[in-house]
Formats: sequence, structure tokens, C-alpha cells
Amino acid sequence: MRFTYCPDCGKLLSHRDLGDEKNVPWCDDCNRPFFDTFYTCIIAIARCGDKYALIRQKNDDSETNTEKFICVSGYIGVCESAEAAAIREIKEELGIDACKVTMISSYVYEKKKMLMIGFCADVQQTEFNISGELIEAHWFDKDTAIEKLKNTSIGKELLLDILKREEKKNG
Ligand SMILES: [Zn+2]
Repeated sequence: MRFTYCPDCGKLLSHRDLGDEKNVPWCDDCNRPFFDTFYTCIIAIARCGDKYALIRQKNDDSETNTEKFICVSGYIGVCESAEAAAIREIKEELGIDACKVTMISSYVYEKKKMLMIGFCADVQQTEFNISGELIEAHWFDKDTAIEKLKNTSIGKELLLDILKREEKKNG
């Protein structure tokens, strides 16, 4: 996202040099810079023991393939931490309370110009109460989950990173 107008007050932005940063978009009324930015989202996989939860989503944007299993994901709210967003999205989409969320890595999703912060969400309940936006949620063992995610851009990377971390922990 590049700002031409101030997203807070609507004034046409001017430009200023700020230290090493040249030509930064600047609002003369709000007296602050508006750097180029992109959306920050979370992507999360719920884990219960050695099972991983994936979802199929209803087709509300044409890029979502309803046949495909994907991970839970969503935008981080204003002034919300990434951890809180991960807990909220797991609750909204799966209807499950996460007892622990662990940040795994961040991933750049170039196609949609997003930074995705990846989490493993440990849960104790396996019964779903899914959101109306989903077709289904399903528990898979790790090999099946990797197979289901094989054509996803970030989901598979996240799962492999979770498994790598698990291996390290177990020596
Ligand atoms: Zn402004």
C-alpha cells in the first residue's frame, strides 16, 4: 500500500526526508509520516496431540478453491497483538479455545502483498463448532496434513516449520 492521501484526515500528502529515509509521504495536518506498508495477517494451525486441524472455506472470493484444505488465517486488528489475533481466529473459525499459541515464523505472501505471522495453536478440545464461513474443519495426522497442504503457498511451509521445531525439541 502506498499512501497518496492521509488515511486519517484525507489531506493530500506532501513528502519529507526523515533521517536516512528520503521522500517519505507526510501529512502536514496530522504531522506524521505514512510509510508504504502492507497488511499483516496471522496464519495458524491448531494442534491436538499429533493431529493438525485444517479447514475448507466457502468460496467468497474467486481465488479460494473450496476443494482445498487450508490453514486458519485472518487480519490482525488495529492495536491487536499477533498472538491475540491467532487465538481469536482459532476461536472464530474452529470454535475452539487455544491453550497455548507459539509463534513459528513470518512469511511474505507476495501475491496478496501480505506479511503472514505463523502460529501453532495447541488445543485440548477436538470437537469443532465451525464458523459459517467454513465448509468443514478436519483433524489430520502430520503426513496427511502435509499432503493436503501441498498446493498452498504458506500453509505447507508453516506446517513443516512446526514439525521441524518439534523434532528439535525431541532431540
Ligand atoms: Zn492527516
